[in-house]
Amino acid sequence: MPKNNKRISKRVYPKRNCKQCDCEFEPHDAREVYCCEQHRIDYNNDLRRLKDAPLKDLNGRIVNNEKILKKFYETLIGLNQESLSIDFLILDKYDFNVPCETSINKVGNKIEWQLSYGLEGVDEKKRLFKIHKR
Ligand SMILES: [Zn+2]
Repeated sequence: MPKNNKRISKRVYPKRNCKQCDCEFEPHDAREVYCCEQHRIDYNNDLRRLKDAPLKDLNGRIVNNEKILKKFYETLIGLNQESLSIDFLILDKYDFNVPCETSINKVGNKIEWQLSYGLEGVDEKKRLFKIHKR
């Protein structure tokens, strides 16, 4: 048995192209699809990055909304005001399309929650919002 325990077959396999770099190489095993170990790792890292991208994107949008709500929540308290015009949220690029958890409060209004902060439309046209913290 060879010292490094690697069993390299003497069988010859047809040349193929590496899944990562597309260079031609001689496989030592029928299952080999990468020209080298590093390209196997690179390929799988790239794949993972691609799969994680939508979640990372959604996470970024939620975190950004949360920051905006936190800021205005504190501003409203500082100004002793109850509600805020939608214009401020639009100016700060609040993302109204982030899928979120909702609840209905005592007066029957829907609250759309990000993480700790939620938005409640308080007028009919949904131009004025209260910000809640849980
Ligand atoms: Zn390669």
